[in-house]
Amino acid sequence: MTTVRNHDIATLRQLDMAHHLPAQSSYALQQQLGGSRVITHARGCTITDGEGHSLLDGMAGLWCVNVGYGREELAEVARAQMLELPFYNTFFRTATPPPIELAARLAGLLGGDLQHVFFNNSGSESNDTVFRLVRTYWALKGQPQRTVFISRRNAYHGSTVASASLGGMDFMHVQGGMPIPGVEHVMQPYHFGEGFGEDPESFAARAAAAIEERILAVGPENVAAFIGEPVQGAGGVIIPPPTYWQRVEAICRKYGILLVSDEVICGFGRLGAWFGFQHFGFTPDIVSMAKGLSSGYLPISATGVSREIVETLRASGEEFTHGYTYSGHPVCAAVALRNLDIIEREDLVGRTARDTGPYLAAALAERLAPHPLVGEARSLGLIGAVEIVAEKGTNRRHGKGGQAAPIVRDHCIARGLMVRAVRDAIVMSPPLVISHAEIDQLVDTIKAALDAAQ
Ligand code: PLP
Repeated sequence: MTTVRNHDIATLRQLDMAHHLPAQSSYALQQQLGGSRVITHARGCTITDGEGHSLLDGMAGLWCVNVGYGREELAEVARAQMLELPFYNTFFRTATPPPIELAARLAGLLGGDLQHVFFNNSGSESNDTVFRLVRTYWALKGQPQRTVFISRRNAYHGSTVASASLGGMDFMHVQGGMPIPGVEHVMQPYHFGEGFGEDPESFAARAAAAIEERILAVGPENVAAFIGEPVQGAGGVIIPPPTYWQRVEAICRKYGILLVSDEVICGFGRLGAWFGFQHFGFTPDIVSMAKGLSSGYLPISATGVSREIVETLRASGEEFTHGYTYSGHPVCAAVALRNLDIIEREDLVGRTARDTGPYLAAALAERLAPHPLVGEARSLGLIGAVEIVAEKGTNRRHGKGGQAAPIVRDHCIARGLMVRAVRDAIVMSPPLVISHAEIDQLVDTIKAALDAAQ
């Protein structure tokens, strides 16, 4: 039996049931299954659980381990920084070297006017920062009535009160009385689900027009910002038609509304560009970053902010009364810097754009799209989804809300592949270091799982 720290795996699962509340989980199911699946170690793109099962990690942890597992230099840089300075805060105009260097590095990657960076610990916190920063900005501009955020249904922006409210998933609103006032949700650019059979460009125009209609309904003078993920990840890998984002940008500019790109999943190479906004060719005013920023080795997130917003804060002389004890944590920032070194040194962004991304797209098209259970197999860079349908050639689901994907996912896990089920889609987001052989394994395992589920 594998021994992990002080306990064998059976004892760990007992302790898990007795004491540990995992995130986004049913605690009834946790008990029914005899505790959580305990992952004990990982290398490259492979994770291993406490029972010794190895799985290809088709999810890169949780859309985040972009450089893969087992990077010794990230552990070494964390160790060195801990010994030099494990922590000092960045409150009240104090700083330490790593977050300063990381802010400058991110400013270079973001480019243009996105020259300022605020640090947080998670994607949710970054979007909370967005919430307060945007409303503060408009108040300082003499337009305090501009408080409304426009987001999309089925968006995911986090799990704190503000970020879950910005998100558009109904099940995220049920507990805790969300959304809080001032968030409007409009249709998502989900062509397979909501524009099936429609010309993608007329669908893009329709989805963008829904934003403009809501702006006019709310009153443009009341709208503070539009927020969106370039590709909606947790919502089921919703890849918008190519011109959608340029249309959204034009609408935001027309009414003077801030544009926020939530790059928590799309950032750091996932789509084959450093950021999703660069892939789709639009320019946001604010950018939320997390996950791939440190490849999940330590928790850190960053909010990229335009010059105009920072100049407004500066001109006001007001303090931005916002921040977290661990904003700009020196160890996390040092690890993030080295993680960016790795992404650059190994050209993981270019490799995703030119090599592994197209390889995955071709494998999905050739081996999964023709499958009788598959309605659509889509990807962009190294993020993708396979839609499971009740009838080939339609987008008709199995039953209410979809029931087939969890079965297919379980067949995948039993065959050594970790993927997620979202509604009736299997979603994937492997580490950017994935090889062609591993992409073959990923796609062939999903095919075998679909065959088994037929
Ligand atoms: N924004 C997006 C687009 C996300 O996908 C997520 C998490 O999956 C978040 C925000 C929240 O990030 P975190 O879980 O780090 O709080």
